[in-house]
Amino acid sequence: MRFDTRLIHDRQPPDPLTGAVNVPIYLSSTFRQSAPNRNQGYVYSRSGNPTRAVLESAIGALESGAGGLAFSSGLGALATLLSAYPTGSRIVSVDDLYGGTWRLFEHHRRQFGLRVDYVDMTDETGLRSALREPTDLVYAESPTNPLLRLVDLRAVSALAHRVRTKLAVDNTFATPALQRPLELGADIVLHSTTKYLGGHSDIVGGALAFRSPKDLERFAWLQNAIGAVPSPFDCFLVLRGLRTLGVRMRAHGESARAVAEALEGHPKVRAVHYPGLSTHPQHALAARQMSGFGGMVSVDLAGGRKSALRFLRQLKVFTLAESLGGVESLVDHPATMTHASVPRAEREAHGVTEGLVRLSCGIEDPADLADDVRAALRGT
Ligand SMILES: *Cc1c(COP(=O)(O)O)cnc(C)c1O
Repeated sequence: MRFDTRLIHDRQPPDPLTGAVNVPIYLSSTFRQSAPNRNQGYVYSRSGNPTRAVLESAIGALESGAGGLAFSSGLGALATLLSAYPTGSRIVSVDDLYGGTWRLFEHHRRQFGLRVDYVDMTDETGLRSALREPTDLVYAESPTNPLLRLVDLRAVSALAHRVRTKLAVDNTFATPALQRPLELGADIVLHSTTKYLGGHSDIVGGALAFRSPKDLERFAWLQNAIGAVPSPFDCFLVLRGLRTLGVRMRAHGESARAVAEALEGHPKVRAVHYPGLSTHPQHALAARQMSGFGGMVSVDLAGGRKSALRFLRQLKVFTLAESLGGVESLVDHPATMTHASVPRAEREAHGVTEGLVRLSCGIEDPADLADDVRAALRGT
């Protein structure tokens, strides 16, 4: 079956008990045992819940993996992933990262003696030299947040595997509708389901998907031991979001293209970052690796911080808020909002300037979004 059909039917059969076409929300913390340790597959909802189980196997299948696990947030998923790397382990990470991911890496570095090296993965030589030292995990985002840079996942997974290291990829921005890292060689996929998978800005959640059944088993143990699990109600909402992921990602892509084209070449704009523009330095890689370019655009305004703040105030359709991936358009100033936890020098060295604005293009009429950014530029 093709992807859009699988979004609706894969691992989501009608409820066997009643025929309900939607997965019931099993609001039960515990399950009856007919004798000690004799049960119907469920014991306690931290360990497993029937609504969550459907979401987990759907995400695992959509990412072309052996299975998936759901978490209370994207960072809950990351904390569980990092708990498998003891003191002295070394992670080689991409250098343009979600701010909260960076904060948690740094916390593990200071608190638990994890070693983390950040490298520019748009350039293979940096990664090659980083992998000369023993490495326990390579960690990437693609496209990256907020600069929309790409990592060649096929090339990076080959380099990681050559030194017997696994590759984990945060696929939040692309979603499995546009990019499936496990098919390109990655071993673990991470999601903030808060974003496009949920798609309606009404839940906070996370997920992991695994290539190997062994990893799935190991992390299922950690998921239960740590307990950062989502509620059955939130699992239901993510399942509902999954069903429209295909149509939503196409609409997000149309909006983002209209917005990127409205911004590109404008005299008040220093640079537009969107993988779908032919001027994006990695446009060819994006076209090869992804089946669409996504809904995120970032723009560096020539007037710096002052222009950025004025631009935010002028927007009418875009709402100023953290987060992304919902049906409504949102705008963010990374330097003072999502990436404020990254020190300024570090931020600027990677290109997250004070003039940078990140746009999550929703599924409103693309022409209204393009008009909104054009009008806001006039007023900056
Ligand atoms: C939001 C986000 C996260 C963190 O997820 P939460 O659900 O907010 O904990 C991780 N990675 C990326 C790319 C994100 O956008």
